[in-house]
Amino acid sequence: MTDKKTALVVGAHSADFIWRAGGAIALYASKGWEITVVCLTYGEKGESQKLWKDPGMTLDRVKTERRAEAQKAGDILGVHEMVFFDLGDYPMRTSVESLERLADIYQDIRPSFVLTHSLEDPYNFDHPEATRFAQEARVVAQAHGRRGAAAAIGAPPVFLFEPHQTEQCNWKPQVILDITSVWDTKRKAFESMDAQEHLWEYYTRVAQQRGVQGARNSERKMKYGEAYQRVFPLVTEDLV
Ligand SMILES: [Zn+2]
Repeated sequence: MTDKKTALVVGAHSADFIWRAGGAIALYASKGWEITVVCLTYGEKGESQKLWKDPGMTLDRVKTERRAEAQKAGDILGVHEMVFFDLGDYPMRTSVESLERLADIYQDIRPSFVLTHSLEDPYNFDHPEATRFAQEARVVAQAHGRRGAAAAIGAPPVFLFEPHQTEQCNWKPQVILDITSVWDTKRKAFESMDAQEHLWEYYTRVAQQRGVQGARNSERKMKYGEAYQRVFPLVTEDLV
């Protein structure tokens, strides 16, 4: 356990956290938080198109390269710890053992918030499966009978990443995080993802759009944003 504030990011594939939550990670890391990123798979089959253009490519080599890339991007963003579950992607299937492993991580780091995928994604079944898994592990970690009442976690809010095509995923931007101050770091992190170069400009446009919308919905002079949907109600005594 740590004295520092912590957060947990759970992604289905090894690069998901960079595109979808890299701004939040860099922002909170810059404030001294310890961010743990769990990559459930390397995206070795479904999200490594460029590597598979090499006819001599093997599954093990793809995994090794994707892991190194994710670690490098995590280092750029200031991730405290990268954890790779290697569950296998397309299709991704979870086990009770892996659920207990993630629940242990929740209880060990006691995150103040959790970031994961949208609840639906008809283009990618691993993403909502990762969300279901992350949410179930959160609830398991809340159980007083698991490792005793002192180990049980509270109720960290869960924020859902922006999916690739929001309308089809029934996802709405309920929170827009101003990531202008760390934009250069996020961009640098995703430029380290050589296998997915085709997404660099796309995710820059997404951040710019959310930046404009963030400014429109506030008095902030922000240029880049990262949007999230909430799962649970915001509990506050301050509506301003
Ligand atoms: Zn993915």
